Amino acid sequence: MQLTEHFSLAELQASTKAAQLRIDNAAPPEVLPRLRKLADLLERVRTYLDTPISVTSGYRCPALNKAVGGVTSSDHMLGMAADIVAPGYGTPYDIAKALAPQVSVLGIGQIILEGVRGKQWVHISTRVPDKPANRVITITDAGAQLGIQALV
Ligand SMILES: [Zn+2]
Repeated sequence: MQLTEHFSLAELQASTKAAQLRIDNAAPPEVLPRLRKLADLLERVRTYLDTPISVTSGYRCPALNKAVGGVTSSDHMLGMAADIVAPGYGTPYDIAKALAPQVSVLGIGQIILEGVRGKQWVHISTRVPDKPANRVITITDAGAQLGIQALV
């Protein structure tokens, strides 16, 4: 099912980890409206970056979220977050730097530059975090920092 012009439901629930572990990561019906909203956000980000973006993790059922070590309150489980990369634009740091000043304009609730366990990606959510200061943060193996920080 196509959610928006460039994003399908299949892409937002695809997971190699789920396939490996034979976890059924199909989003339940009540999550679909949130995934549509998320796809709308991804379209705005794609338009702003002017390049295709790949979703490396979208919806996660509770079993998958646990398997990937996601936090128990993860927006991924609500269908409100996607991890993205856009090699055509640049590194995750480049992408996060470009998007961070535009969070209100683009309707990004939260953006996290993540560089953990040797991998890097940008997490965007449609939900504004309870603590507004956490709206733009960087998370590395060393912990969380406010703002978008260079990954070393
Ligand atoms: Zn994420």
